Amino acid sequence: MITSEIKTKHPITYQILNNVFTKNAISHAYLIVGYNRLEIAKFIAKSIYCESNILACGQCEDCIKIEEGIKIDYTFIDGSEHTVKKGEIESLQYNFNKSALEGTKKVYIIHNIENSTKEAMNSLLKFLEEPIDNVYAIFTATQASSVLPTIVSRCLLLSLEKPTKESIRKELIDNKATEEESLLLPSLFNDIATAVENIDSEQIQLIKNEIYNIIDDLFFNPDNVIINMHIHINKQFKTNEELSIVLRIMYIAFKDLFHVKHSLPVILKSYGSLYERIKIESNQINQCQGILLEAMEDLNTNVNTQLMFDRLIIGLKGVIYGR
Ligand SMILES: [Zn+2]
Repeated sequence: MITSEIKTKHPITYQILNNVFTKNAISHAYLIVGYNRLEIAKFIAKSIYCESNILACGQCEDCIKIEEGIKIDYTFIDGSEHTVKKGEIESLQYNFNKSALEGTKKVYIIHNIENSTKEAMNSLLKFLEEPIDNVYAIFTATQASSVLPTIVSRCLLLSLEKPTKESIRKELIDNKATEEESLLLPSLFNDIATAVENIDSEQIQLIKNEIYNIIDDLFFNPDNVIINMHIHINKQFKTNEELSIVLRIMYIAFKDLFHVKHSLPVILKSYGSLYERIKIESNQINQCQGILLEAMEDLNTNVNTQLMFDRLIIGLKGVIYGR
């Protein structure tokens, strides 16, 4: 990630870092939590070394070597790949202490630090309590509450804000997404890269077509909807990721129905002719959305998906036909 990207995607973080580096008040330890944390961690590491710019230029030898993970005096420990153990922290300390005399800068990143043993965290804490000149620690975590409070208090904490739907939409339009994609994808994915990757996705088009038919069945062919759900959804889409998209598109369709009733713009314009034929009351739409939210929760708890869909369809039919 380069400076201009950080400026637009994480304006608050950018401002803090720019301040810190401009005033040369660089902290010895950072904790970065939330979205895009690894990118920001590497950006800080580069900024510490980079001599072309106040923040990382992204192009000099130092910046490139960090991106590639081949810089001497730079250590990357990946807690998302393995549990960080005490021995790893101790050998880091040993090496950095030994070479600190040389006076060159040393930076280490521990990504997803919450995945460390208690002993490793305690050993790290001792390291942080006696900061060595020119040694910089950068930690990332999904949330600050999963890190030892005594470590958190010794770090400059940067919480990364998620991109808004509007900023994802802009990026999609810049990447030549269709109008429907630019409205739909931000509701399915909450990060820009994944949303952009799914422009022109055959998989999403397929799910959209299948859901169109399921909703058509639900209102006009209700006796077959359970069997069709099994054949066209359950047998075709297996992963939680796919099933979560299935449920979210169904949810969006009901939201659209509410919008149609109140003459507001819809997301799935390609469902327009279907929406026109459906008669449903606002309170029924709300109830259906509630049932879909319950199904999404079920999916998160790894419930049997066939059971979940049966319950979902019976629930929706109950609302629509007053049973
Ligand atoms: Zn640079």
